[in-house]
Amino acid sequence: MYVQAGLKDMPQENAKVIWNRAVSKNTMHMGLDCRKACRDVLPGQFVMVRTGSRVDPLLRRPFSVHQAIKDQGKITGIELLYKVVGSSTERMAALKEGDALDLVAPLGQGFRLPDHVANVMLVGGGIGVAPLMYLGSWLVEKGLSPLGVRVIIGGRNRDDVLCGERFSAMGMDVRLASDDGSVGEKGLVTGLMEKAMDEAKPDLVYTCGPHGMLHAVADICEKRDTACQVSVETLMACGICACLGCAVHKRNDDGSYMHVCKNGPVFDARELSWA
Ligand SMILES: Cc1cc2nc3c(=O)[nH]c(=O)nc-3n(C[C@H](O)[C@H](O)[C@H](O)COP(=O)(O)OP(=O)(O)OC[C@H]3O[C@@H](n4cnc5c(N)ncnc54)[C@H](O)[C@@H]3O)c2cc1C
Repeated sequence: MYVQAGLKDMPQENAKVIWNRAVSKNTMHMGLDCRKACRDVLPGQFVMVRTGSRVDPLLRRPFSVHQAIKDQGKITGIELLYKVVGSSTERMAALKEGDALDLVAPLGQGFRLPDHVANVMLVGGGIGVAPLMYLGSWLVEKGLSPLGVRVIIGGRNRDDVLCGERFSAMGMDVRLASDDGSVGEKGLVTGLMEKAMDEAKPDLVYTCGPHGMLHAVADICEKRDTACQVSVETLMACGICACLGCAVHKRNDDGSYMHVCKNGPVFDARELSWA
């Protein structure tokens, strides 16, 4: 089935909720059966979900694919990790096993794995860790050793520092930081990231989190001459480059923009102006 009016040619599906549970204060983890729309989804891509009638909330909301659910090697669904912040996420949090969730997917450009990359660092801030989980398992599927994937996760407090155990279960080196010291090292995720880079320089850093954190991670990587891919979140109304509301400035300012929904959400950090 395909949706109409602007979302033409975009696979739409009434996904079925497999589970939907709280993993910390205000953060939910949902499993969805959506074998048609998501069968080719790649790490870093996102879905647009509709949670209500056509009027309220009017617009679909974007969410990163947290993990792919597979059966005999084929993708049959996806996981979402989401923070409850407003009307759509409140409605999502109330969904139960067997309920339907209307989604359009897969959207955007995901993470890339260049040739000759063996050691990478994943840096997630708060709910920004969401797309890094699928990325981590995909990198291992692509042939990277789990020991070559270091994961640095930070957040304001214990409730914001998410998914550490799942990355550890994949055999990755996981380090945690929190602003208040309630979990992991006290301090910013960027401090922990720099320490880990001093120990061993990664070939590539992948990151997602709040804008200020992404800016800092991009600066650190640039100073250390390390490649960096950032997954950027902006307010986004349509997800298909019709409204042009998710524009970001290009680094070489010839007045042109890129759009998070179409050119991203994953960009090479050096393509973007962080000012
Ligand atoms: C490509 C992309 C991927 C995303 N992936 C995830 C994800 O995996 N998990 C997750 O929890 N969230 C994710 N988000 C953010 C998510 O889309 C918003 O939190 C959601 O739209 C809020 O909807 P709402 O109706 O509940 O809240 P609203 O009532 O729309 O907003 C509540 C508050 O959240 C703020 N807000 C809304 N959208 C964003 C945004 N994109 N960035 C920053 N602040 C925002 C609003 O300004 C407002 O203050 C992603 C956003 C993008 C663009």
